[in-house]
Amino acid sequence: MHVPPLTALTAADPDVARLIEAESTRQHDKLRMIASENYVSNAVLEATGSVLTNKYSEGYSGKRYYEGQQFIDPIEELAIARAKSLFGVDHANVQPYSGSPANLAVYMAFAKPGDTILGLGLPHGGHLTHGWSVSATGAWFNAVRYSVRRTDGMIDFDEVRDLALAERPKIIWCGGTAIPRTIDYPKFAEIAREVGAVLAADIAHIAGLIAGGAHPSPVGYADVITTTTHKTLRGPRGAMILSTEEHAKAIDKAVFPGLQGGPHDHTTAAIAVALGEAAQPSFRDYAHAVVANAKALAAALVEQGFDLVTGGTDNHLILIDLTRRDVGGKPAARALDRAGIELNYNSVPYDTRKPFDPSGIRLGTAGITTRGLTPEHMPQVARWFADAVDAGVKEDDAALDRIAGEVRDLLDGFPMPGWTRV
Ligand SMILES: *Cc1c(COP(=O)(O)O)cnc(C)c1O
Repeated sequence: MHVPPLTALTAADPDVARLIEAESTRQHDKLRMIASENYVSNAVLEATGSVLTNKYSEGYSGKRYYEGQQFIDPIEELAIARAKSLFGVDHANVQPYSGSPANLAVYMAFAKPGDTILGLGLPHGGHLTHGWSVSATGAWFNAVRYSVRRTDGMIDFDEVRDLALAERPKIIWCGGTAIPRTIDYPKFAEIAREVGAVLAADIAHIAGLIAGGAHPSPVGYADVITTTTHKTLRGPRGAMILSTEEHAKAIDKAVFPGLQGGPHDHTTAAIAVALGEAAQPSFRDYAHAVVANAKALAAALVEQGFDLVTGGTDNHLILIDLTRRDVGGKPAARALDRAGIELNYNSVPYDTRKPFDPSGIRLGTAGITTRGLTPEHMPQVARWFADAVDAGVKEDDAALDRIAGEVRDLLDGFPMPGWTRV
C-alpha cells in the first residue's frame, strides 16, 4: 500500500488511485536499475506532496512579484544555503524545473543563438542538451561534438583540445548520461582556459556521489555546474545551477525571467530536505556503497561473459555492449523487465545499430543501494542478468517469470519508502 495512504484520492478518483497503487507495488517488486532513478525518502515525498504546490513566487527571495512569501522565502533560502554548503560553492540557483531547463539557462547566460558550443556526442554518452541535433541546443547553436576512443571507450582529450582550438566554442560541456568513468575536471578546465570558453560541468547523474565524496568534484574547475536533484542525489524531480560569485547574476537572470515563470515551491522544499539528508554522515556511506555495488556488479557481469564499455565502472553506472552476445539492447531490456530487472536499452560508442534498436543496455546501482542491497548480492543479480537475457533469446517466458519471482522474494527483505505491505 502507498505511504502515506491515498485515502482522499481513492474516494475522489479511484482510477488514478489504483494506478498509483499499482506503480508503488511495481517499484517495490522490481530491481529498479535505470541509472537515473532512485527512491526518495518519506520526508521528501511529504514535502513534494504539500500545499506549497498552491503558491506562486516569481522572482527571488526579497524580490518577488507576488505577495505572501513569508514562508516561501525562508524555504528557498534554506535550499540555497544547504546547496552552497554541501557542494562548497559561492552561489546556487534551485529554481530550474529540471535538468534540461537548467542546461538551457547556461546557454542563455553565456551564449547567443548561432554561437559555437562543444559537448560529448549523445551516442558517446553525452546528453541531448549538450548540442545533439534533435535538441533545441543543436538546432539553435553551432554544436561541435567530441567522442570517446574506439579502443577503450574513454574520452579522447587530444580530440577535445584540437576541436576546442579549431572551433573556439563559447561553452564546453563535460559530463553525460552514459559515462561509467570518472570525469577529469582539471583536464577539461585546462582546455577551456586555453581557448577562453566557459566550462560547464553537468553532474546530473553523479551529484550524489560528489556530495558523498565518492567522485571528484568539479568545484574550482568548472565555471558553472548544473545538476538534476533526482538521480544519485535522491531528491525530488528538479535541478540546480551552482557557480562562482562571478556568474551568479547571469545565471539567476537566465533562469528568471530568462526562461521560467514561477518556481515550483513544493519542489524547492523537497530539494532542501534532500540536501539536508545528503549532508548527513549516512549519505557518505550511501554514496560509497553505490560505487561498491556497481564495481561488484561489473565484476560479476564480466564473470557471466558480458562485455562492458570501458571494461568496468568508477561510479554508479554500467554500460553493457551485447554485440558479442548476439542480441539487441531492446529485446534484452524487455526480457529483463519481465524478469523483474528494470533498465533501459542504450547506444554504445560506435554502435552499428540504430538509436531506437541499439546494441547496449545501461544500468545503475543508485536505487538498489537505497533498498539496502550490498556487494554480496551482486553475483546473484549478475546470474539473473545472464539467465534472463538467454531466456529472452529463447522466448522462455516461464524462465523469465520464475526469475521475477526470485527477485520479488529477495526484495521483500528490503523495504522501500513510499510503500508498505498491508
Ligand atoms: C538526466 C540528465 C539531464 C536532464 O534532466 P531532465 O531532468 O530529464 O531534464 C541533463 N543532463 C544529464 C547529463 C542528465 O543525465
